Amino acid sequence: MRARVFAAVGVAFVAALAALATSSGPREPVTDASGSLSVPDATAAPTPGTTGAPTGLAVEARPREPTVPREFDAASALVHVCALEAFGVRAGGSAAEAQAADYIRDHLVALGFDARIEEFPLPNGGTSRNVVARLRGSSDVVLVLGAHMDSKPPSPGANDNGSGCGALLEIAGILAADPVAPTVEIIFFGSEEIIGGQPDWHHFGSRYRVSQMSAAERARTAGMISIDMIGYGSAFHSRTMMRGPATLSDMVLAYAASTGAPMTFKQDTSATGLSDHEAYELAGIPAACVCWRTDPVYHTAEDVSGHLSAERIDTAGMLVLGFVRSLDAADLAVLTAR
Ligand SMILES: [Zn+2]
Repeated sequence: MRARVFAAVGVAFVAALAALATSSGPREPVTDASGSLSVPDATAAPTPGTTGAPTGLAVEARPREPTVPREFDAASALVHVCALEAFGVRAGGSAAEAQAADYIRDHLVALGFDARIEEFPLPNGGTSRNVVARLRGSSDVVLVLGAHMDSKPPSPGANDNGSGCGALLEIAGILAADPVAPTVEIIFFGSEEIIGGQPDWHHFGSRYRVSQMSAAERARTAGMISIDMIGYGSAFHSRTMMRGPATLSDMVLAYAASTGAPMTFKQDTSATGLSDHEAYELAGIPAACVCWRTDPVYHTAEDVSGHLSAERIDTAGMLVLGFVRSLDAADLAVLTAR
C-alpha cells in the first residue's frame, strides 16, 4: 500500500510539474483564472469569450474549450506533504516554518493567487507568519479555509499538519480554475502549536488574523473551516468548541451525510479549542475543524509521510471541496444571519 502511494505521488509530481510548466502559456485556463485572481476589485461580469479579462468571475472567463472541473487528488496533496516534511521540524517562528511559508506562497503565486505573507510577533520574542490568499467568487461573502503550517518539535508534522496544508494547496489549485459562490480566503497559519509549555500559548496565527479583521469583515465572513490532521485515524469529525454558531458545522455534517461520508460531530476537549477555528468561533463566526483521529504518533518524530493514508486525505479533501462547491447564496445568507 505504501509503495502504491509513493508510486502515485511520483506520477502526480511529474504531472504537477508539467501543469506548472504549461501554466505559463498565455492560453492556459490557469493563466486565465490567475488574471482574474490578482485583481482585487473586479466585480463586473466579463465579456464572454474574453481570455485574461480582469475580472473575478473566472467561470465565465474561461477559454472556449469546455473544461471539466477537476476533482480532489490525494496524491497531489501528498506531494506537498513530502515537500513540507523535507523542511524538517517547523516550530512556530523557526526558519523551517518560514521556508514552508515561502514554499506555499510561491505555489499559490504560480497558481495565479495574489498571495501574501503577514508576520506577527510571538510572546517568546520570535516572529511567525501566515500566508493569505483570496479567490473571488460570485458573492462578496467570504468563506475561510485554513490549515496550520507549523509542527510541534520534535515532529516533522506530516499528519499534523502537512496533511491539511497539502489538501488545502490541492483545493486552492482546483478552485483557482473553477471558482465557487463564496469568495474563498485561503490561509496557512503559523504557530498553531503550543510554544514554551504555556497551555494557552498557541493558535497565534489565527488569533492574529482575526484580530486584524474589522467588524464589517467579520460580518461578511460566512464561516471558517480549519483542516487539521486528515491523514490518519478511524474517526472522521467536524469539531467545534460549542461556543459559537453551530450553523457551519451542521451544514458540513449534513453535506457529509448526503455524500455518505462517515463524519460525526465531536466537541473539542480543550478549553481553548484544538485548532485554528478557535479565534473565529470566539469571534462569533461559524466555524468547524475537519479532522481524522486519533493519530498515536502526532507530536512525535514518527509523524512522517510514510504513515499517512491517501484514502483518509482523499475523504477529507473531497468533503471540503464538495462542501465549498455546494454552497449557494441561500446557504451564505443563513451563515451570515447572526
Ligand atoms: Zn494540528
